[in-house]
Amino acid sequence: WAKADGKSRWALYDPERNAREVARFTLSATMPAALERGEFFVDYQPLVRLDDSTIAGVEALVRWQHPEFGRLAPDRFIALAEETGLIVPLGRWVLRAACQQARAWLDAFGECAPFVSVNLAVRQSRDPGLVADVRRILDETGLPATHLQLELTESAIMDTADEPLEALRALSEMGVRIAIDDFGTGYSNLAYLRHLPVHELKMAGSFMEGLRAAEGADPVDAQIVATLVSLAHALGLTVTAEGVETAAQAERLRRIGCDSAQGWFFARPGSPADIERLLAR
Ligand code: C2E
Ligand code: MG
Ligand code: MG
Ligand code: MG
Repeated sequence: WAKADGKSRWALYDPERNAREVARFTLSATMPAALERGEFFVDYQPLVRLDDSTIAGVEALVRWQHPEFGRLAPDRFIALAEETGLIVPLGRWVLRAACQQARAWLDAFGECAPFVSVNLAVRQSRDPGLVADVRRILDETGLPATHLQLELTESAIMDTADEPLEALRALSEMGVRIAIDDFGTGYSNLAYLRHLPVHELKMAGSFMEGLRAAEGADPVDAQIVATLVSLAHALGLTVTAEGVETAAQAERLRRIGCDSAQGWFFARPGSPADIERLLAR
């Protein structure tokens, strides 16, 4: 990089940047062994139905319990794993862990057990082995396909060439639900949406900002949220609002007709035991 920045920068040493680069390199180089050693684990966060407050699903969120740096959030390592390609085996591991967990909840709680919603990185959605991996993991864990949802970002779905789209169709035909994650933050071809094998929109947390305060809501934000919800419903999709942090937001979303919501107001991401305590209520 120094070269590209021109000769005058050669002499500059940026210790912070250097430390960041070293940390990135270390994390990325040690990730495969960490996966082998079982340093990754999954937290779960409920998706709560707004009409009756029951738990419709839970999102699986991966964490890395690093022996030196402590617990790392996914924004520290998912992009690195995408760069190196490790996201494919890591993502497969998350999928298996989540399906095993969802199967255990199905045994313990029966029909009111939540579906599990697993994030798919762009690189995973383009992986030719995706459909076979999902099918095998469902078989081996005994989880019905209808209890699995896969979350893809708008860009993963919209820029998709024919083959990944075929994969999503195949998954959808198996009964797996497909959700668009962080909807509204990227570029979406709304007209195209109706031709996609998608079941749910997850509305990005940024839309919740204007609905936050107890007194008064930002009328434009409220209108955008209401419009997204009715668009989704017109397309036959369900809507989950992300990043719901206050009672006022939850109540406004319920009145707008949003199906479910996820956020700190209901529950932070937690262990399977935390989820079981909520399910038992
Ligand atoms: P995401 O899929 O949009 O997940 C929601 C994120 O919002 C989670 O962050 C969650 O902890 C956080 N969140 C939940 N409720 C609230 C709230 O009320 N307020 C705020 N401010 N945040 C809230 P987390 O766990 O750090 O995950 C970040 C991102 O990392 C996820 O965003 C997802 O894109 C990615 N990710 C997580 N697990 C996986 C995985 O297994 N595979 C892949 N490919 N990506 C993953
Ligand atoms: Mg997600
Ligand atoms: Mg999201
Ligand atoms: Mg996100």
